[in-house]
Amino acid sequence: MADEGEVKRRVVAAVDDLAADLIALSRRLHANPEVAFQERQAAAWLTEMLERHGFTVERGVAGLPTAFIARYGRDRPAVAVLSEYDALPEVGHACGHNLIGPSAVAAGIALRAAADALGGTVMVYGTPAEELGGGKPVMVDQGLFKDVDAAMMFHPYPGEEKQAGCGGGSLALRAFDFTYRGKPAHSGFAPWEGRNALDAVILLFNAVNAMRQHVKPDVRIHGIITNGGQVFNIVPEEAACRLALRSFDTAYLLEVTERVEEAARGAALATGTELETRLFMKYDAIKPNPTLVRLISDNLRAMGFTVRDPRPTSASSDYGNVSQVLPSAGFSMATHPPGINFHTPEFAEGAATERALGGMLEAAKVMAAVGADLLADPGLVARAREEFAVS
Ligand SMILES: [Zn+2]
Repeated sequence: MADEGEVKRRVVAAVDDLAADLIALSRRLHANPEVAFQERQAAAWLTEMLERHGFTVERGVAGLPTAFIARYGRDRPAVAVLSEYDALPEVGHACGHNLIGPSAVAAGIALRAAADALGGTVMVYGTPAEELGGGKPVMVDQGLFKDVDAAMMFHPYPGEEKQAGCGGGSLALRAFDFTYRGKPAHSGFAPWEGRNALDAVILLFNAVNAMRQHVKPDVRIHGIITNGGQVFNIVPEEAACRLALRSFDTAYLLEVTERVEEAARGAALATGTELETRLFMKYDAIKPNPTLVRLISDNLRAMGFTVRDPRPTSASSDYGNVSQVLPSAGFSMATHPPGINFHTPEFAEGAATERALGGMLEAAKVMAAVGADLLADPGLVARAREEFAVS
């Protein structure tokens, strides 16, 4: 019988043994930011490290070239750690995903000792394009999480040192491209011959603005015009906009989504144009699993962290889709000074500091410890599953 306390000490110590490699890897990701679905180097570097430490890696899963699944061990329970590694256009790693990728890889590698001693499978999921498009919804829809019993991940955030948060919710999100096609005509010579696609886009924005007073306060609707026409003196034949809708309540979000789609059709009708609607992002709200939240929070406290009360964040993540199909929980760890906002150059700069890199190692230790607890006690996994089924 393996000594569980000893196993846990070993997995946590394993992260320290990997520290130099992890810091170098995180710095390399930070210096070479790659955006959604183009994270080729990132996926190569992360999987290379996993393979070097005995993981079997499947690359290009779900038809996504930069997605991967790495496995170690056998049988159940199967515990998964999720990694992200995409950057933002222009600002680079302004969400700190250069810390998320290596922390997940570290937790996975550290957990080998637990899988060897206690049995079970450790998996590291490489999930691309969290910022724009979402790899996880595609992987979820293709059933790639069906053999996993519990999943976890970490995200950086700005806060006081040694602070962490766990179990917060997020906004469900649907994002659409609305494209209108009208009829071109000379704007001076024969405008009556034309049907104006840009007018349809403008009408849609006005309809959405009229709707704002009549939706619940947590709803967000925002967007940009992605095509405003081609030439100023030709009636715009084609115009398009990209709109995102968010709410904490997925069911309510779908109601609002229907209203916006109606408004989009109305704008086409009013302008005599044709409408094409394309859903391009589908992020569900996060459903935290109580047992996993407690387990993560206990391990955070045991490592000297203060854990804030769970609070919903007014952001969205495709991690929500994973949380809707299996027991999972995420936590955030203060890697940046308070007052720095996500998706800014300051956040990107902060993502390669000593403090942030130290936080990444701490986060890896927390996930390794949680994974060791789950592999050691099948009762925890069973309880998490039961809660998942009834909530
Ligand atoms: Zn992020």
